Amino acid sequence: MIAMTPTTEPTCRQCDDTGWVEQHPGQIPRRMQRCACFVQKHTRTYADGVPREFRDARLENYRAMPGNRAALRAARACLDGEDDLFLVGPIGSGKTRLACSVLNEHFLRTGSGLFIRTPKLLLDLQLLIVGDGKTVENRARDRDYCERLFSVSMLVLDDIGVEKPSQFTNRTLYTVYEERGDRGLRTIWTSNLGLARDPRFAPDDPRQTSTLGEFLGDDRLPSRIAGRAEIAFLDCPDQRLEDYSDVQPPYIWSGGDC
Ligand SMILES: [Zn+2]
Repeated sequence: MIAMTPTTEPTCRQCDDTGWVEQHPGQIPRRMQRCACFVQKHTRTYADGVPREFRDARLENYRAMPGNRAALRAARACLDGEDDLFLVGPIGSGKTRLACSVLNEHFLRTGSGLFIRTPKLLLDLQLLIVGDGKTVENRARDRDYCERLFSVSMLVLDDIGVEKPSQFTNRTLYTVYEERGDRGLRTIWTSNLGLARDPRFAPDDPRQTSTLGEFLGDDRLPSRIAGRAEIAFLDCPDQRLEDYSDVQPPYIWSGGDC
């Protein structure tokens, strides 16, 4: 929040902070139009659904660290290219912020983009199937909701693998992803779970985490994601902790680039 300055000087010399300027100064009758300062102040700069804390997220203000360089590169490629993106990393490693950075920049270019936390999406989808006694308006709204998932030019599905989907929601997530792929639209996923086992540990090693497919109890969606998305690992300490100098990353995903 910017502190109020203890002065009566207008901040905009064009309109004296009224928000209006003459379209053709001096011409009668006077026609007024919105001042550029007003337009700037009232133009949204973040995509739909982006949480408050990530509304200012951009690739240029993303904090680059040794553990996220490869992911940052993949994020830039996703913004300009055609591949989907699957960001994997532990809690607090900055994957949601990175996903929002790409999405917000895409929104600034196109005016389109949507962020949804997957647990919220699963809840929404469950409400969709509670169908008995629904009015025509309710059903139209449900259709609009699904159509939005199918058609928005960039969709972030944050935090898949936190809540266990039902068979129905599993199938619906898969259908949404298939449909978006068919339409050539990009999807960015974030998850604590990888698509494959951590190659550094034996399958029965307690440090081994389960894969997304094991968690979902269904390999079709992870296999589709693997086929269509750039997989990027974030191996950073929890950025929400103020002092993490003594904290070791929970795991290191790839030796080379990260
Ligand atoms: Zn102005």
